Amino acid sequence: MNPIIPSGSYDYIFCGIGASASLLLLEMHRAGLLQNAQVLLIDRVKKDTRDKTFCFWSDDQEPIGHALKPIISHSWETVILPNKDETPLFPYTYNHISSIDLYKQIDQLRESFQWTHILAEIEVISEDADGPFVQVQEQKIRGTTIFDSRTPNHALSQGGQTHIHQSFVGWMIETQIAMDSPLAFRFMDFNIEQLGHTQFVYVLPFSPTTALVEVTRFGSEILQLPEAEELLKKYTSQHFNSYTTLAIEQGCIPMSNTPMESLNVSGVVYLGARNYNIKPSTGYAFKNMYYHARELTKTMVNGGNVCEHNVKHSDAFRGRFAFYDALLLDILKRQPAEGKRIFLSLFESTGIQKVMRFLDEKTNFQEDASIFIQLPWKPFLSSLARKLFHSELSRPIILTLLTLLLLVLGYNTDTQRIVSYSLLALGLITVGIPHGAVDHLLSTGRWNLKKASGFIFKYLALMLSMALVWLYNSSLGLGVFLLYSSWHFGQADGALWHFKKPASFFWGASVLVYVLGTHFQETNAILRSMGDLRLPAACPVWALLPWLGWAIWRKQSSFAITVIWLLLGSQLPLVIAFGLYFIGQHSFTGWQHIQRHLNISHQSIWVHSLPFNMGAWLLFALFYFLWPAQASLNEPLPWGVFFIFIACLSFPHVLAMQTVYRAK
Ligand SMILES: Cc1cc2nc3c(=O)[nH]c(=O)nc-3n(C[C@H](O)[C@H](O)[C@H](O)COP(=O)(O)OP(=O)(O)OC[C@H]3O[C@@H](n4cnc5c(N)ncnc54)[C@H](O)[C@@H]3O)c2cc1C
Repeated sequence: MNPIIPSGSYDYIFCGIGASASLLLLEMHRAGLLQNAQVLLIDRVKKDTRDKTFCFWSDDQEPIGHALKPIISHSWETVILPNKDETPLFPYTYNHISSIDLYKQIDQLRESFQWTHILAEIEVISEDADGPFVQVQEQKIRGTTIFDSRTPNHALSQGGQTHIHQSFVGWMIETQIAMDSPLAFRFMDFNIEQLGHTQFVYVLPFSPTTALVEVTRFGSEILQLPEAEELLKKYTSQHFNSYTTLAIEQGCIPMSNTPMESLNVSGVVYLGARNYNIKPSTGYAFKNMYYHARELTKTMVNGGNVCEHNVKHSDAFRGRFAFYDALLLDILKRQPAEGKRIFLSLFESTGIQKVMRFLDEKTNFQEDASIFIQLPWKPFLSSLARKLFHSELSRPIILTLLTLLLLVLGYNTDTQRIVSYSLLALGLITVGIPHGAVDHLLSTGRWNLKKASGFIFKYLALMLSMALVWLYNSSLGLGVFLLYSSWHFGQADGALWHFKKPASFFWGASVLVYVLGTHFQETNAILRSMGDLRLPAACPVWALLPWLGWAIWRKQSSFAITVIWLLLGSQLPLVIAFGLYFIGQHSFTGWQHIQRHLNISHQSIWVHSLPFNMGAWLLFALFYFLWPAQASLNEPLPWGVFFIFIACLSFPHVLAMQTVYRAK
């Protein structure tokens, strides 16, 4: 039966009422923010089961332990670590909350405040002229602040990012005779078969005869129920006498540093997993969600803007702890057999309290170093090498080295020409043209055969209109080409380095003017062959230096290095300098944005680009023979015709790419 969708508007709408929303509601209630508020709760499932077990550690000073005391059902003061005896946790305790106890608190508040509650799938959260809204069964419900904790989707991992899973299956068991050490919980017991993964068991005893025994796997492959039950059977038969299974818990937490979809809607605040509250290397989120709820509540009490607490992907994975997480994730994905060795040596060499402070990201750099020095180096070094290769610095560094190499080969020498033109041709075929040959996928993500003829016709018509502009008035053609190229280059780089729109355009225009203007005579030679055009003035070699200053001021190393190789590139011949920027910087960046937008693999993009990639070369051949012959008659290479063709081809591409950049 469809729920009745209430009309009216609300002060607060909670989209998803799982852990993060519940923690926030409790905090807001504690701060008195809900007394006269109109609140709407929406979830697609009834939160009336014990669907999760939430554990977290805290010391006596931390507010979380005090605030959630009424629902903490068990606390352990001692732990059994791998290959060790019982160890006191002091000053920490390891605390357990059953999800149902948390949800019940919200049920009580809902009943006493008479909040509206809908059991339904949220279709969309968006905004229009009247403000933000939540759409349920095609009906818009408005709220001043919308808290979004719906389960997020992760994008495919790029470069140095990793997405793996923490999958687990737990049995709540009751033993016939009291178990050994019922007061201590067993943390990461690696004494189970690894089967090529990183897997271990937790034992949380709730009484001398009841315990949750949970087998957990970190890795790319999710632990399936039959294999988990096999491992649990072996483990329980080794550690417990006869027992009965009371309940089963199964779950999966993303261990990921990939980006999540972001709505960018004013008035929408992200919570929980959606706000990057899950620590990638451990899967722990509960404490982060609680402190996030406190921060939000404080801001609301002070009348501040809660949306400012929305975390962006680039901020979530900044800093040294994010870097450590990234290394460990990479090891767990690529060298899963190393996981056991790393964790065992961690617990062997480092006290549990220090490990907990490290996982809470509260240790200082010296303490971090003292932890890492004890760990096996090899897996970390190989992961570091991979990370450096995939870091955002690697491409600008490679381009700088390439520019230096080409400079060393001598200006316009045969060797320089052979090396650079071979590389540029390879780049143009593999990335340059293909990055513009998936425009047919950009708006819907799939190729619609029914609409194919319409799409191709529109694309060709836009190309033809550009060709006609060139034929009618080549100065106008050049002007329009430079304008939309500046926009397009700036848009790609601006999205990479988080520029605002005017700065993006100004950067795109600066690069174009710089590359052309520092090669005044060569540019004019080509422009003459494009219809008797010429640049009004040359550009000084230092002209990009203000951008270098800006990059340093913004502490953006990859931007700064890009400016440096562009400055060096001014000493290379025009076509090489432009080609390095167009392929090495623009096409690769555009490709990354397209991949993120379509959320498909690189291979898949390349395969999808093939028909239009080949079509582009065919069109070029046609264009070359049909274009009026004033072009490049005296030139060994037909650069004039080539650039006019690129102007025509790129016009519809620039328009198509707006879909990608509008969605960012
Ligand atoms: C089994 C399990 C055990 C965990 N144990 C721990 C732990 O011990 N310690 C720890 O720190 N972390 C733990 N975590 C990780 C983390 O704390 C939890 O995942 C936590 O629930 C995340 O909170 P959340 O609010 O982001 O998501 P959730 O609690 O999952 O809440 C999201 C809610 O949104 C609803 N929803 C989603 N999409 C829609 C839609 N389109 N329309 C309507 N409703 C929607 C869902 O039904 C759900 O109720 C655990 C995770 C799992 C899965």
